[in-house]
Amino acid sequence: MTKPCRILLLGGTGDSRALAEALEGRADVEVITSLAGRTEQPARVPGELRIGGFGGIEALANYLHDERIDLLVDGTHPFAARISGNAEEACRRSGTPCLVLTRPPWREVEGDRWISVADAKAAAKVLPGLAERVFLSVGKQEVETFAGLAGIWFLVRVIDAPREALPLKNYEVVLGRGPFEENGERALFLLHGIQALVTKNSGGDATYAKIAVARELGLPVVMIQRPPHKDQETAESVEAALRWISGRL
Ligand code: NAP
Repeated sequence: MTKPCRILLLGGTGDSRALAEALEGRADVEVITSLAGRTEQPARVPGELRIGGFGGIEALANYLHDERIDLLVDGTHPFAARISGNAEEACRRSGTPCLVLTRPPWREVEGDRWISVADAKAAAKVLPGLAERVFLSVGKQEVETFAGLAGIWFLVRVIDAPREALPLKNYEVVLGRGPFEENGERALFLLHGIQALVTKNSGGDATYAKIAVARELGLPVVMIQRPPHKDQETAESVEAALRWISGRL
């Protein structure tokens, strides 16, 4: 019997979990999902799970060698640029085939009022004068960038309850993990009198409801565009990733 193909799946997204689920129970593959360890109680993933950083490019290349990894699928969030860059380089050095699994970015449609910005810093710059009550949906790591905006009240959505006060003057925290539905998002916007949304252009369906609701309510969306990425083999769906894997078995 031939040995199963060992796949390192860099996770932290719904799509990477869906890929692990689609591969569950197959005798021809062994999947190790890797998480950074940012969320306290990550959603369950089938297969083996490892948690925590590798320690940089060289350490990741060593891991690929020591664990006899045959394929790497980078299913991390499009804004997780450091791990993606590390994975690309570690795969190049070790000769490991690598696929990036990522949804296409959201595109502006009629009725949207997007203000596209390059990063969170630029998002913070456009807020004064635009809105006084802002839904900040950018993840806990970026919150500090908005610390200087004392005249704005923020609704901050995060997965885990913050252990310390956030570095904002006026805010309220709402806990939530996608997918989100339009009805729930509309209720949240209306309850808090939201006047603008700040979000990363994550793509995919799981968190699109807030964009649709902002459009429906005629509200501006400060849309943080994705960091640039190099030309790599990319799958835009779990099905496409499964085809790529099958082609390498
Ligand atoms: P990042 O800035 O690209 O990575 C920072 C460091 O965290 C990496 O250098 C690596 O440490 C470690 N790391 C990141 N992802 C890892 C993984 N899947 N497995 C093992 N180590 C990992 O990443 P980030 O933006 O902090 O994101 C961390 C995780 O949260 C990722 O899994 C990502 O998919 C998920 N996430 C991020 C966002 C976002 O907006 N950035 C949104 C939703 C989910 P070493 O260098 O020590 O290996």
